[in-house]
Amino acid sequence: MREIKRTINLNIIEENFRRLQNRAPSSAMGAVVKADGYGLGMTAIANRLAHAGCRHFFVATLKEGQALRSLLTETTIFVLNGLSSYPPQDFHQARLIPVLNSFDDIHAWSAAAEVTELGCAIHVDTGMQRLGLTIDEFEALKSDSELLNSLNLKLLISHLACAEQSQSEMNQTQLRRFNGLSDGLPEISRSLANSSGIFLGSNFQFNLCRAGAALYGVNPLPGQTNPMQPVVSVSAPILQIRQLNQASSVGYGATATMNPGTRLATIAAGYADGYPRQASNLSHVQIGNWLAPVVGKVSMDLISVDISDLPVSAICVGDMADLIGPLVSIDDLAAAANTIGYEILTNLGRHGETQTID
Ligand SMILES: *Cc1c(COP(=O)(O)O)cnc(C)c1O
Repeated sequence: MREIKRTINLNIIEENFRRLQNRAPSSAMGAVVKADGYGLGMTAIANRLAHAGCRHFFVATLKEGQALRSLLTETTIFVLNGLSSYPPQDFHQARLIPVLNSFDDIHAWSAAAEVTELGCAIHVDTGMQRLGLTIDEFEALKSDSELLNSLNLKLLISHLACAEQSQSEMNQTQLRRFNGLSDGLPEISRSLANSSGIFLGSNFQFNLCRAGAALYGVNPLPGQTNPMQPVVSVSAPILQIRQLNQASSVGYGATATMNPGTRLATIAAGYADGYPRQASNLSHVQIGNWLAPVVGKVSMDLISVDISDLPVSAICVGDMADLIGPLVSIDDLAAAANTIGYEILTNLGRHGETQTID
């Protein structure tokens, strides 16, 4: 029996990388491949992007960094979650650059003698209240030149809270704070922009950008035409087709009631496959060139769609329905489920069979 199937197009990830690089011609374009490349497979993606000229990669954890280092011997790898209580030697051994997030990190790094070679990055919080030194802590570090010099600081980063909202005042506030950090510091590389941040303009791009979601086709400009190309498609087989001979409710909780004559298709995918249950009664799947609305609650392994508008000849048991396809983008499904493309991307089809196009 065929199952949920995911296709990941590496050619398009490379194309998106080039598009982003063209948007920020004066900066290096780094690739964020944490969470197994946003669920799409870090190995294939990192190999392909390295081949395309990407020289800077970001992962979240030491473990991810070690896995990436075993693939790519030459490239620069930053570990966003910092030391996370691991010994600095572990980073040194795999030639990983930790993004230090706290004074605990800083003191541990400073105490390890061998750190000076590759250096470290420091994250300063300019408005997320998530990770990083506070601005005051960073100023304190700046005034302790002995400590600062012991770190071999290579990159200063911060992260934008509202980059996908180009009109948000938060962006300018964070930019101003970020610019202020380097007052009185010697020349040091800086990185502020995630995917959406790249589109806020050249003053947000600094030396190095950190592109994640946009590489994988998520729209960095919600509400506008997506400047990226779709990377992923996900499909699942139609298990059963039925026609209602009387008005009937569909699925758990009987949340949808359909008229007599309605034709329904049952598709072999559900929330256990990462299809969002929140999209119940709201999203669409693509069958051929048609869109069929999801009716009733999304079940664990199944969804029902209304195919009454499709020609009877257009659909057979065993055909594949696209959960993500040319007519249903990741962002469309995310909107129906009241979430963001990132979550759809990292959840959908992890359990299915994956085909990688290169
Ligand atoms: C995940 C992450 C990114 C990538 O963000 P996208 O919006 O996916 O481009 C960049 N910087 C940091 C610190 C992150 O945690």
